[in-house]
Amino acid sequence: MNVKQFAAYVLVAAAFTPVCWAQVTSSSQVGASPQLTRVGIVPVRNRSASAIIPALMSAKRAAAGFERAGVMPTMGQAASSAPKDNGIQYHGGPIMDDANGVNVYFIWYGDWSKDTAAQTIVTDFIKHLGGSPYAAINTTYYDMEPGPTGTNVVKDWVTTGIHYMGSASDNYSRGVNLTDQDVGFVLENAVFGGSLPLDHNGVYVVITSADVQETSGFCTQYCAWHGWDNTATNDNLLLAFVGNPEQCPNNCAWFSVPPTPNNNVGADGMVNMIAHETEEAVSDPFGTSWWSNSVGAPSAGENEDLCAWTFGKTYNLPNGSYANMKLGDRQYLIQRNWVNAEGGFCALRWDD
Ligand SMILES: [Zn+2]
Repeated sequence: MNVKQFAAYVLVAAAFTPVCWAQVTSSSQVGASPQLTRVGIVPVRNRSASAIIPALMSAKRAAAGFERAGVMPTMGQAASSAPKDNGIQYHGGPIMDDANGVNVYFIWYGDWSKDTAAQTIVTDFIKHLGGSPYAAINTTYYDMEPGPTGTNVVKDWVTTGIHYMGSASDNYSRGVNLTDQDVGFVLENAVFGGSLPLDHNGVYVVITSADVQETSGFCTQYCAWHGWDNTATNDNLLLAFVGNPEQCPNNCAWFSVPPTPNNNVGADGMVNMIAHETEEAVSDPFGTSWWSNSVGAPSAGENEDLCAWTFGKTYNLPNGSYANMKLGDRQYLIQRNWVNAEGGFCALRWDD
């Protein structure tokens, strides 16, 4: 959606979600420097949110008393009733709802000249993520708008479309130590410097070389994050930071030493982080849409958070590593994502 539609949508959503309104308003001040808001993160391995899944399951089982789980509605009722709770809740905000899907841009920050193999692997991954059975899990998410007489009706569903639209390079324009704000500057340099288009249907992923620090907690608090940047031109652009796990393989890569599916510790870790942040940026772009009330905050309760560092069924590869999905010609180990259907669960694919 364009920014006008977004603003209109936020106004509509605000009518029944005052908390979300407050969050979105606070980000819409015009400023000369990036107004960067982090929404969600990939936790480091030893801080995994995977313990949440059993908690969600037992909370569901613990629901007291007799309840009819479901009825077959009459034909007139079926279309307008909201789908039931699947362990993750809708908080009134938008999803990325373009019918063709979302556009992804990479910004390679720092010095990638010694690891062009990683760039090839990561680019190949994003080119094949769209339309995959894994991307289809996100099609269980939607946004809503007020319907007749105080009801809410589904407005749009996420699609499987993820379109890689190109990349830019940034040779340390903000130095080797980046703050969250600096990551916003890196995005704005690329967009307003003309290397990438200004795209309200885009997710801009800043990927840093292994020598770059993100000082708000890369490697210690998180491995990656997504959020948005309110630019000096008052555009809200979706942004993700993905650090290179070569810097802290024990915290941010499942395979901290070779062999890895594509024989590259950094790239095989980054594809997992990119999957996580892309799917969250689409289903919860501004932290106002889909996250679990059991966790209590979008920063740790978005769909991919509920399944972080869990991989489901794997198979062995000839090089001694293992994987759980093949996209294009490559093998990957990618965390599961939360299916917002059938009660909710972590999965690697969704085929309905
Ligand atoms: Zn997350």
